Amino acid sequence: MAEDAVIKDEMVVQIEYQLTVEGEVIDSTDPEDREPIEFIQGQGHIIPGLEAELYGMQVGETRQVAVEAAQAYGGVDPEAYITLQRDDFPESMDPELGMVFEMNEPDGDTLLARVIGIEGDEVEVDLNHPLAGKDLLFDVKVVGLRPATDEELDHGHVHSHGEH
Ligand code: ZN
Repeated sequence: MAEDAVIKDEMVVQIEYQLTVEGEVIDSTDPEDREPIEFIQGQGHIIPGLEAELYGMQVGETRQVAVEAAQAYGGVDPEAYITLQRDDFPESMDPELGMVFEMNEPDGDTLLARVIGIEGDEVEVDLNHPLAGKDLLFDVKVVGLRPATDEELDHGHVHSHGEH
C-alpha cells in the first residue's frame, strides 16, 4: 500500500459524517448541500476522540466511531451556570426560557448561552456547550486524502477552496 493511501499526520483529510446523539441525528454532511469537512490530520481541528480513530483509514472506508463526552465537548461544568439581571440584556432582547444567545467573552471569543430559568428580574443562564456531557456517535466516510503542502502545514489550515 502506498504511503500516502492511509490517514496519518500532516495529511489533508475529507470526510462525510453523520452525528447521532442520544439516538437522534443532529448534524451531518449531505452530498447535495453540505460539502464534506476537510482538515489537516493531527492538528486538533476536529474533536480529539474522532481524530484519533481516523488514523489508518483509506478513501472509501467507513467507520462508526463512538466518542465519550470527555473526548468530545467535555463534561458539564457546574461553574458555567451564571445569573444575569434582566437589565443586562439589551432592550431589544426579552429573555425567554430556552432562548439561546451569543455572549462575548473578555478575550473576544463568543459563546452560546442558554436561558434555563427566569425568576423575577433574575435570569439563569447555562454557558455549557450544548453537547457538553453527551456521548457522540459518528458515522464517517473518508472521501478524500492527500498530503498537505508545506504552505498548508505552515499556515495550519487547508487551501483547497482558494484560501490562503
Ligand atoms: Zn493559509
